[in-house]
Amino acid sequence: MENKVIYFDNNATTQVAPEVLEAMLPYFCERYGNPSSIHRFGGSVAAEIENARSKVAELIGATYRDRDGIATEIIFTSCGTESDNAAVNSAIATNPERRKIVTSAVEHPAILSCLKNYERNGIEVVKVPVDNRGRLDMEFLRNAVDENTALVTIMWANNETGTIFPVKECAKIAHSKGALFHTDAVQAAGKVKIDVEDTDVDFLSISGHKLHAPKGIGILYVKRKLRFMPTIYGGHQERLRRGGTENVASIIGLGKACELAISNLENEQRELAAMRDRLEEKIKSSIPKVHVNGDLDNRLPNTSSISFEYIEGESILMFLDMQGICASSGSACTTGSLEPSHVLRAMDIPYTSAHGTIRFSLSRYNTMDEIDTVAAALVPVIARLREISPYWNEAEK
Ligand code: PLP
Repeated sequence: MENKVIYFDNNATTQVAPEVLEAMLPYFCERYGNPSSIHRFGGSVAAEIENARSKVAELIGATYRDRDGIATEIIFTSCGTESDNAAVNSAIATNPERRKIVTSAVEHPAILSCLKNYERNGIEVVKVPVDNRGRLDMEFLRNAVDENTALVTIMWANNETGTIFPVKECAKIAHSKGALFHTDAVQAAGKVKIDVEDTDVDFLSISGHKLHAPKGIGILYVKRKLRFMPTIYGGHQERLRRGGTENVASIIGLGKACELAISNLENEQRELAAMRDRLEEKIKSSIPKVHVNGDLDNRLPNTSSISFEYIEGESILMFLDMQGICASSGSACTTGSLEPSHVLRAMDIPYTSAHGTIRFSLSRYNTMDEIDTVAAALVPVIARLREISPYWNEAEK
């Protein structure tokens, strides 16, 4: 019991669901054939891949099937990052006369780093700002998109705050100028309803490990009839759109994960939101000077970004970690500078709050008991850190 981990970091990655693991296991030592093989031992696996593809399509509302019943709008990739890059690369390659990409200031690095590279090569990149609740400036977006824009890429939901973006409206704005529209739905898939047809997106990215499938599998949805240029060239897999022998076991796992998400989406949403709300209520009622970040009226049910004023998020995480509690901070500590993340900076969160920001992200495997344990554990941790914080002591004078 002492070593039990309380895992509140599900936007970083999730536990593989036991049902998913069970579905995958036969594909390692029993049905390990290559789906491209002529023999039945390998070939029979191809049918299972198509079954998984259909499940993924169902999760995102992609109803199209070709005459063989195959959901050809879904391309399996290795991860969300690859899917994001593949969408951007294809949009630019198929529209070489258009030299502009419009995105948001709060995208994941999977998009922003990719765009930086295009910027170095002469493509104009415009980042739409957000307000202090993380909501997109739609007027800015409307003015930024023009006939020179190849692609508008706006995430479905933000990974740090959970804020959900109006992708349907964004897609409409893109299309009104003949631009393509991509959405990074890595954090949204399995947590909120996605309908690619109603929203009319051209591309959409998903990553398996964020919805209880394993790491190393993702998908890119590409609307039917859209011209597509691959990022990875190779064999004829994925209808020549993504070379490389299929990651069969993980594809099967992702199909199962989508099936689980579809069957329980509404219940899970309710349960996650109830746990998140209780966590926030408990924290707000027992600790002074805390703020919840993001668009509180429109966010993922599992994500809570909380700023504890005048202390460092990393110190909070360290103390929580000593008690087996896992969460994330809102810092980009890769540089060692503990700078607040680009998301919190774009939201103009005051730096005394941004530094002490923690992201708690829940999953179906969390419980109300864990919520109570974490809320209680935070009280002495925050009090102790504030005691030794010169900023807190200064502010309290
Ligand atoms: N996009 C978003 C919004 C994410 O949160 C992540 C992962 O954190 C990614 C893309 C990258 O996904 P992957 O880890 O599968 O490459």
